[in-house]
Amino acid sequence: MTKHDNLIGGKWLPSNTYSENRNPSNTDEVVGLYAQGSVDDVDAAVAAARKAAPGWAAATPQVRHDLLEEVGRKLAERAEDYGRLLSREEGKTLAEGIGETMRAAQVFKFFAGEALRVTGDLQASVRPDIDVEVTREPVGVIGLITPWNFPIAIPAWKTAPALAYGNCVVLKPADLTPGCAHVIAGLLDECGCPPGVFNLVMGRGSVVGEAIVTHPDVDAVSFTGSVATGSHIAEVCGRLKRKCQLEMGGKNPMVVLDDADLDVAVSACLNGTFFSTGQRCTASSRLIVQAGIHDAFVEKLKAAMLALKVGDALDPATQIGPVVDEKQLSSNLAYVDLARKEGAKVIGGERLELDVPGYFQAPALFLETTNSMRINREEIFGPCGSVIKVADFEEAITVANDTEFGLSAGICTTSLKHARDFKRRVRAGMVMVNLPTAGVDFHVPFGGTRGSSFGPREQGRYAAEFFTTVKTSYLFAG
Ligand code: NAD
Repeated sequence: MTKHDNLIGGKWLPSNTYSENRNPSNTDEVVGLYAQGSVDDVDAAVAAARKAAPGWAAATPQVRHDLLEEVGRKLAERAEDYGRLLSREEGKTLAEGIGETMRAAQVFKFFAGEALRVTGDLQASVRPDIDVEVTREPVGVIGLITPWNFPIAIPAWKTAPALAYGNCVVLKPADLTPGCAHVIAGLLDECGCPPGVFNLVMGRGSVVGEAIVTHPDVDAVSFTGSVATGSHIAEVCGRLKRKCQLEMGGKNPMVVLDDADLDVAVSACLNGTFFSTGQRCTASSRLIVQAGIHDAFVEKLKAAMLALKVGDALDPATQIGPVVDEKQLSSNLAYVDLARKEGAKVIGGERLELDVPGYFQAPALFLETTNSMRINREEIFGPCGSVIKVADFEEAITVANDTEFGLSAGICTTSLKHARDFKRRVRAGMVMVNLPTAGVDFHVPFGGTRGSSFGPREQGRYAAEFFTTVKTSYLFAG
């Protein structure tokens, strides 16, 4: 069984312990052994990043561009292999795994271009004969902490802008899915990334993650994951006066109005709620449906959901792969029980036993629910969606906004007026009209409001807000 090491200061360093990365579609299969880093590894990685920082900050935009472009090119070239690895460690279908790898390639290529487009301002001072120059500089050494559900795209969309804008990085991927982050580390190394500019330390959040966040020589932390971990990181970063960016959970509403195209609505809700096994922060978990279309919508969505094929992520016929692990599956099943206890009518949701041992679950629809039920307030993060019946547009928008989260929100309608009103009044960072709440472009900002996100947006050119710091210089020419 191949052992996968950490990359620290340009060297692949073995570890005292390795953890088994198991395939959730077949738990008999070990995908690989991955290093479990220590606090000492984090110290070494941060020291290597600090040492490399002046050189990388001074590297020309062309050098940074060429590295990121080459990584993007190789990711795209090998998307089939890496997508397969992704599906084996996370459980997404192969099509989704390859699609996510292509997304990571696009992100690297996009930020290769951005490295050439770092701009500033030259302004006249309010005082005579003085010029004012506003320039962007790298922040320094950045800790990147990522979740398991987009194991190649999220490390890519944090690493690529960090490097494009001249920062050095220590990346800690989720313990459940280190394989894809290891791929990114391998590609950066293969493409000639200078030692220490990018470091990978795999391991536990409570050890490696905590050591990165609290390290005195880390300048900023970019985190994606749960609200609980994000809140803890925000507190630590606040105390240490350290820049941080948090992307956390969601309880995303999808409104279906009476005037919606039924097929468009069912297709958007099927995709948004169940695809990627519902393990998307942008999943549509609350389907807020107007009374006039409610019964027809529920009938059609229920039939489409029951027809979804759950199975091994690598089987081409599979539409819904397994849940990521036993802990997440138990949590999902507990929510299915809770839905019953709270008075919902439950369709599906049971654990499935297939030919091989895995974490399979039938998609679940919770009917006749209210927005005050816990199933509609807490993020489940599984293939489960609730239907909430409402009387009209006003009630729909009130229910949509009645949540502590604010990541993505959708509406299915053929009314221009309702679409426009919804876009303006819904409290979310991303709004979709006649589209699933999940599924975004890579070149525009991604993020939310309220309990979902904190700090500057990720992705697109807005990423510069987090990954650079602004300097204002005054010059008197005499
Ligand atoms: P998690 O919070 O358990 O873990 C995320 C990362 O934080 C992992 O790498 C983990 O090891 C690390 N970590 C854990 N404890 C830590 C600590 N004390 N200090 C530093 N790091 C620590 O989240 P998860 O279960 O991996 O991911 C699922 C969550 O991620 C869901 O809530 C989902 O909504 C969210 N998510 C959000 C977005 C977004 O962009 N808004 C995208 C994907 C996933």
